[in-house]
Order: sequence, then structure tokens, then C-alpha cells
Amino acid sequence: MTYEFDLFVIGAGSGGIAAARRAAAHGATVGIAENDRLGGTCVNRGCVPKKLMVYASRFPDVFQDAQGYGWSETHATLDWQQMISKVNAEVTRLNGVYERMLDTSNVQVIQGRAQLLDAHTIAIGDRKVTADKILIAVGAAPVRPNIPGIERALVSDALFELPKQPQRVVLLGGGYIASEFACMLHGLGTEVIQVIRKDKILRGFDEDLRTQIQTAMIQHGIRIIPNAEVTQIIQSEAGVTVTIHQDGAAELILADVVSLAALGRRPNTDYLGLENTLVEMAQGAIVVDRHHRTAETNIYAVGDCTSKIQLTPVAINEGRVLADTLFGGTPRLMHYDNIPTAIFTTPEAATVGLTEAEAIAQYGSDRIKVFQSRFRSMYYTLAGKDEKTLMKLVVDQETDKVLGAHMVGDHAAEIIQGIAISLKMGATKANFDATVGIHPSAAEEFVTMR
Ligand code: NDP
Repeated sequence: MTYEFDLFVIGAGSGGIAAARRAAAHGATVGIAENDRLGGTCVNRGCVPKKLMVYASRFPDVFQDAQGYGWSETHATLDWQQMISKVNAEVTRLNGVYERMLDTSNVQVIQGRAQLLDAHTIAIGDRKVTADKILIAVGAAPVRPNIPGIERALVSDALFELPKQPQRVVLLGGGYIASEFACMLHGLGTEVIQVIRKDKILRGFDEDLRTQIQTAMIQHGIRIIPNAEVTQIIQSEAGVTVTIHQDGAAELILADVVSLAALGRRPNTDYLGLENTLVEMAQGAIVVDRHHRTAETNIYAVGDCTSKIQLTPVAINEGRVLADTLFGGTPRLMHYDNIPTAIFTTPEAATVGLTEAEAIAQYGSDRIKVFQSRFRSMYYTLAGKDEKTLMKLVVDQETDKVLGAHMVGDHAAEIIQGIAISLKMGATKANFDATVGIHPSAAEEFVTMR
């Protein structure tokens, strides 16, 4: 049987594009379908516009800190519309970059929503294509839980298009997105109320890191309402009224325009035609084996539509591993240990490896030693602020291996990326100790902890 394509990819986001380009570089005939702009969530509605707005949100602190260094007071104001249009212009530029990259890689882009008709046939609008192998890389979209009026709440995607700066926002959720948006909006000058159902944000991260971020966010002026349940959202002329229940008492909070729900994401598998194949789902995600293969043996899936980690670099790596395995003659597996990640809150946080609790659960508390440093970095001395940096190493005393590194503080993402290499290589605490620090820096604390 001959097919039009060796590989057809559904979804031109981070994972899909990476796999398509790598497969084409190995000589495969590759097509890719996308029903939206190229680049997926990361470029269009996630990492990229978010990070640009995080940068924008941090200027007021810098203006203020500068006075501690002798600069005169700055009276700067934000032109929200200009910020949004500049961010969107950058996203459009990146869409063009992806288009050219796919073109020069000889990947055929077909615009439209793809639907599987059988294990080898895909319909995109009026067109039907056939492929030997198919990769599903359709990503995920925000979940809207069953709360009366939840349809009134925006999801994070919409924030990048808001024509006017919201004065007061109620944010629902305590995960990455809600916490990052809370800090970003607060920095931009919006009043932020974040409602979480447990006592602390960022479940799953190291406890000290969670506490440090949450404490700092509250100190900065964000109102976090813990152990609370949102029971209703009502739209009125005055704005959006969110009803919250906490400790048996109800509170009504009026937000001027926006309540933003960031309550997790679920795979975009609706209308994909999976029922016409043997592909299986579990808890809303496509089930794949360690080779990214679904129950239909010629169909694969990578990225946020599977139940693996929902991070752009993970999807990219999965896509490349798959393409090298299928078309490059270099079969390999994606390894999910020691994947670093950052939370672009203010303060920023980043982490790699095991949390203290995970390490104790895996190795027992007798084997685990924690090294921790909490200090005010030099930058804040003249700025006159009590901002604290937290650094933490989790070490297995038996092997001396560093199992986890966690940081809250300026440039945490940049610093932990380097530390992640050492953890991937199996670095010991003795290796950290033998490394000469860069002075004066905050990062040197990672090699001087005793
Ligand atoms: P997360 O899974 O990180 O967080 C979801 C949050 O919603 C949790 O705080 C959870 O509470 C809460 N929640 C879920 N259901 C309900 C409910 N019914 N009522 C009240 N609260 C609820 O999801 P996000 O949407 O924030 O992010 C999605 C994914 O995107 C993340 O997993 C992450 O991988 C990725 N991402 C990565 C970023 C980065 O790398 N910097 C940035 C943004 C997103 P609880 O903790 O109590 O369960």
C-alpha cells in the first residue's frame, strides 16, 4: 500500500512542528494540519505572550528599586493597548517564522481541522490525505468545571486580547497559570484576588517553594483566598460577581470585568475522529506507550494531548525522539526524570528533580539531607526591600547524589536551567561543593551551602 505521506501530523504546535521538521530532515514526506495559527498554545496563547507580559509587569519594581540606587522618581504609566498590540505583533512575527521554517523543511502545511477517517486516512475540510504513520499533537485547552456561570469567566487565552486593562480580577485556581497571571496582572497595576480550593498554591511543588512564593505574593499585595470554593459567577452591568464560600461563610466579590478561570487543561480530542481508529483514551488523555505509540500501531501522540507532562520542551523532545526513532535510524526513548520547570510568578521560581517530600517517600527520611539557604540578594540591599531568595538542595546521603534543586528568586529559571544539566549528569553534593562560585551572584549560593 502506498500513501501520500510517510508521516502526517495533526496539530502544528511545539510537539507537532518539532516532529514534522525532524522527520522531513530524515527524508520523510511530511504533511501537517493546523486549524489555527502556527505555533500552538506556547506561541499563540501561552509561554510567549505570557512571558512578554511578565517582563512588562516587572518594570514598576525596577523603577522603584532604581531610586535606592540614586535615580530620581519615575512617573511611568502603562499603555495597555500598546502593550497588547506589541505582544500580538511579536506572536504574528513568530507565526511567520514557523511558516518559513516548515516551508524550508519541505513540510506541507494544510490549513483546516483534521479528522481521522480510519487509521491511515485524514480529512481536512474537503481534502483527504493518506499517511503511513500519523502523529496526533493537538494539545490541550482550558477546563471549565461545572460551576454555575463559569461560561462568564474568561480563560487565560482571552487575556492577551483584552482591549482595556482590568481594574480588578478574580482568578480561579492555584496552578501555574493562575499564579503566573496573578503576579503579572498585579505587576501591571490590576487588583488581584486569587481563589484557591486548598491552603496553598502550586500543588506538587516543593513545600518550601510553595510557601515562599505564596508569602511573597501576599506581601506584594495579592489577596489569596485559601480553602475556598467558587459557587457562582454572575454577569451584571457593574461587572462580574463571584460568589465564594470559605469556612461556611459566603462572600461576594465584584470584579470590574474579568474573572479568569485557570483550573487545568484537557486534551483537544473532540471531533478528531478517534472513534474511527483503535486509539484509546484514559481520563480524557490519549494513551501512549513509552514509544509514544497509541493502541492503533501506526498512530502516535505527543505533547499535552497525552497524559505526560504538559510543558513545551517536553512536547518538542518527544516529537524529535519519535522522528529520530521512526525515520532517523536512531531509536531512542524520552526520559522524564529531572525535567526542569519554571514558574514565572514574581518572585520567579524554578525547580528540577525531586521535592523534599518525594525524596523522603522514595528513599526514606534517614537517607535524605536538605541544604537550604534563605537570604536577601545584594540587589535588594540598596533597593531597600526585604525580598528573600530561597535555594534548596535535596541530597541522598548514601550516594551523595543531588536529587532535587529548588529556587525562588530573581532569575530562578536561568539559574536552574544550568543546575539541571548537573542533575542530569548525576552530580553529587561533593561536585557542587568543589565548584567555584561566581562572586558576587545569587547563584553562587548553590555551591556554598553547608
Ligand atoms: P494546573 O494543573 O497547574 O493547576 C490547576 C489548578 O486548578 C490547581 O490549583 C487546582 O487545584 C485547581 N482546580 C482544578 N479544578 C478545580 C475546581 N473544580 N475548583 C477549584 N480549583 C480547581 O493547571 P493550569 O491550568 O494552571 O496549567 C495547565 C498546565 O499548563 C500546567 O500543568 C503546566 O504544565 C502548563 N503550564 C506551564 C507553565 C510553565 O512552564 N511556566 C505556565 C503555564 C502553564 P488543586 O491544586 O487543589 O488541585
